[in-house]
Amino acid sequence: MGISGRFSGWRVLKEGLTGNKGWTPHWRDPEPKREYDVVIVGGGGHGLATAYYLAREHGLRNIAVLEKGYLGGGNVGRNTTIVRANYYLPGNSEFYSHSLRLWEGLEQDLNYNAMMSQRGILNVFHNDGQRDATIRRANAIINQGDDAEILYRDQLRQMVPFLNYDNNRFPIMGALLQRRAGTARHDAVAWGYARGADQFGVDLIQNCEVTGIDVAGGRVVGVQTARGPIKAKKVALAAAGRSGQVAALAGLTLPIESHVLQAFVTEGLKPVIDHVITFAEGHLYISQSDKGGLVFGSYLDFYSSYAARGNLAMQEHTMEAIAAMVPAVTKARLLRSWGGIMDMTPDGSPIIDHTPIAGLYLNAGWCYGGFKATPASGHCFAHLIATDRPHAAATGFKLDRFRTGRGLMDEEGTGAQHNLH
Ligand SMILES: Cc1cc2nc3c(=O)[nH]c(=O)nc-3n(C[C@H](O)[C@H](O)[C@H](O)COP(=O)(O)OP(=O)(O)OC[C@H]3O[C@@H](n4cnc5c(N)ncnc54)[C@H](O)[C@@H]3O)c2cc1C
Repeated sequence: MGISGRFSGWRVLKEGLTGNKGWTPHWRDPEPKREYDVVIVGGGGHGLATAYYLAREHGLRNIAVLEKGYLGGGNVGRNTTIVRANYYLPGNSEFYSHSLRLWEGLEQDLNYNAMMSQRGILNVFHNDGQRDATIRRANAIINQGDDAEILYRDQLRQMVPFLNYDNNRFPIMGALLQRRAGTARHDAVAWGYARGADQFGVDLIQNCEVTGIDVAGGRVVGVQTARGPIKAKKVALAAAGRSGQVAALAGLTLPIESHVLQAFVTEGLKPVIDHVITFAEGHLYISQSDKGGLVFGSYLDFYSSYAARGNLAMQEHTMEAIAAMVPAVTKARLLRSWGGIMDMTPDGSPIIDHTPIAGLYLNAGWCYGGFKATPASGHCFAHLIATDRPHAAATGFKLDRFRTGRGLMDEEGTGAQHNLH
């Protein structure tokens, strides 16, 4: 049996009867080698998924994931776990569709319980304009081959009676429902991919900050790290909120601003909210975790920052919005809040592409929606790294669209202003 062991019903029974003494670490803790075929910078969801698919789909084995802290300590463990495929624009819609299909098979694929819960997402609308845009979006989603339903006020009220339907400014008119959407346990996703990659021989190296990217003759040749230099034929950046800083190590300036996004959780309650619910008002969203906490959040903090904590003004806005839309939440005690650093692009869509430096690949710009993208991001980034061609589901995520202006995917129609997404 490998170091990670295998999960099975029989194994759980056996361990349960023998004091759970036979479990071993899920992945090795190797020393870095002097050279790899592929070095991935960033041990978050996207970096780990990339390593896994590079090994599983493309047969590469000499791979390292370099993580400056611990695996899963970044945004993959800080998000609010929402998974959905209800994007409107071509370029995004097929990518997130691909991702949801990968989510649906992920636990079997990894033999890991990621607590995938397809409890359905409701995107609530409040006025005629939002209703029309929502219907257009539902039609686009259905044309894409995914599920979408429009519910009007009375149907919605039967499903979720506890919302404030008669708020003066933001009365609730209906919602877009995607039943296959839901949540997954965020850090279990990182652990599952880490364990899967490790089983293929990928070296997962923690406490290994990348401090330099070595380039010779226009080609990447390796990285400098807190644990010494490492040579590499290919280097793949998957550093999420730190993408701008990491790319700068190779002399690149990215079209990315880093902003804080906060989230909040209450004390554990008995099950009260069955779905994920988002509101067009206040960018608000809420769901209930399997532990019982009500998990909610709203906008970005609206200024650039690398601090993984947020400001009071946005906390106040979020509390106002939740009290207005889901008044019962005001009876619960807030347990804690936290923040994460978002890599915001001008059009709110990501980048999976080559860079101007040969052998250096970029996966970035996930804004506040990269958790749901994790499987497809890893899958498509691995395809690009292994074949040097974009995956069919990720042809639009070009780095040069911000220079040429062609191919922008402005999902929210907010224009080229990072802080309005
Ligand atoms: C509060 C909040 C709520 C969110 N909610 C959702 C949601 O509901 N649904 C959704 O789809 N998305 C959501 N997101 C967004 C999602 O979490 C991110 O887009 C996604 O996790 C980013 O990809 P990642 O997992 O690879 O990032 P990370 O986990 O941040 O991985 C990047 C890693 O790179 C490492 N790194 C950085 N610099 C270096 C370096 N120099 N050397 C080595 N390693 C380095 C970091 O330590 C980090 O571990 C949310 C984010 C936040 C903060």
